Amino acid sequence: SLSDRLGAIFEGLRGRGALEEKDVNEALREVRIALLEADVALPVAKEFIGKVKERAIGAEVLRSVTPGQQVVKIVHDALVEMLGGSDKTDLDFATTPPAVIMMVGLQGSGKTTSTAKIALRLQKREKKKVLMASLDTRRPAAQEQLAILGEQAEVKTLPIIAGQNPRDIAKRALEAGRLGGFDVVMLDTAGRLSIDEQLMAEIADIHAASDPIETLLVVDALTGQDAVSTAEKFKARVPVSGVVMTRIDGDARGGAALSMRAVTGAPIKFVGVGEKIDALDTFEPERMAGRILGMGDIVSLVEKASLEIDEAKAKKAAKKMAKGEFDMDDLADQFRQMRKMGGMGAILGMMPGMGKMKKMVDQAGGLDDKEILHQEAIISSMTKAERKKPALLNASRKKRIAKGSGTSVQQVNKLIKAHRQMSDMMKKLGKGGMKGMAKQLAG
Ligand code: GDP
Ligand code: MG
Repeated sequence: SLSDRLGAIFEGLRGRGALEEKDVNEALREVRIALLEADVALPVAKEFIGKVKERAIGAEVLRSVTPGQQVVKIVHDALVEMLGGSDKTDLDFATTPPAVIMMVGLQGSGKTTSTAKIALRLQKREKKKVLMASLDTRRPAAQEQLAILGEQAEVKTLPIIAGQNPRDIAKRALEAGRLGGFDVVMLDTAGRLSIDEQLMAEIADIHAASDPIETLLVVDALTGQDAVSTAEKFKARVPVSGVVMTRIDGDARGGAALSMRAVTGAPIKFVGVGEKIDALDTFEPERMAGRILGMGDIVSLVEKASLEIDEAKAKKAAKKMAKGEFDMDDLADQFRQMRKMGGMGAILGMMPGMGKMKKMVDQAGGLDDKEILHQEAIISSMTKAERKKPALLNASRKKRIAKGSGTSVQQVNKLIKAHRQMSDMMKKLGKGGMKGMAKQLAG
């Protein structure tokens, strides 16, 4: 999987002296594959890699991190930047009311749903008075769909008059907006399954008639290589001022976000995170970058790890693990490090492929963060011999340990079980170390 490969780059470059072109190229080949797998459009991926390469080669090598870590960080930072790290994502209302927001996009991209979501948000959070109008005269019941959503959200919708064309509906909406003292008029337009001239002409016509201050392009996060041509065609006809990315709650890898931002040059203003009317979030470039690279928050892990982990100790532990000699002292060490780095959930959640590991650990012993301290107390109530050889732990010893650590025999058993399962797993994974472990867990 992608995470494995990034892990491999990471390992491969570890311990070398400087950021050499050869290393950078090797790493970037993998990053390119990663981007394509995340559905970033090819020309966008190429452009991105070019930028990163320029930045990476000749970058001063930091002393405290390995070249591999540094490349990953550069890639991540460039990705955040290209996703619009410092974009202003607020909607613009600096106009004579009503401010018109026009929604455009392919059929099924989520325009109607997003229209209602944004309207609800503006009304609730910004206390704007919002009127919605559907200009979709093609799809049967499209106007009714928006009316129903309006009822749910308690947002006013323009009364439906049969037989009107989109341009006339837009004009009527603006008029109603002015007369009714609305702050915002949202225009939901028709889409097509693919772009054709008729649709584009209609969009341009509506735009000209309503002069929106925001024209939001709605795209499905699952859009892959088509993202570029879709965005280009819309952009050629209307000035796209922002992007709404829907269905980010599915298993899209988020590549479309990068493509959209690159092609339109417009900020991603919102992401749709579900079918419900309040399932709308503002866009977070950092999170999207992590998602695209499929590495959780590996960057912050790197940052934390380089601060907190005693490298020598970690290496020693890895060696012991590989040999299957993973005793209670090692487990206690792991706990201490986990605590320093923000707890079990934080660590496992941050590491590629570790989601599964977290689940396994949870199933094995339910080692949640709060329990880590208890677990450490239990281990410190063991004798040296018991820590080296947990098999010694019979019923009376367990009772003594439970008493000494202020826990129960049940909790002691849980720890022993977790330790056994972890050391079994370590043994199985053998010499692969973390890399092998990630591979195994990623399946
Ligand atoms: P339109 O043709 O562009 O107006 O698309 P619709 O707004 O009618 O949405 C099409 C389908 O996608 C509907 O079933 C919506 O419920 C669904 N949908 C829209 N946005 C999201 C989202 O962010 N997440 C999920 N899971 N479904 C969404
Ligand atoms: Mg619609």
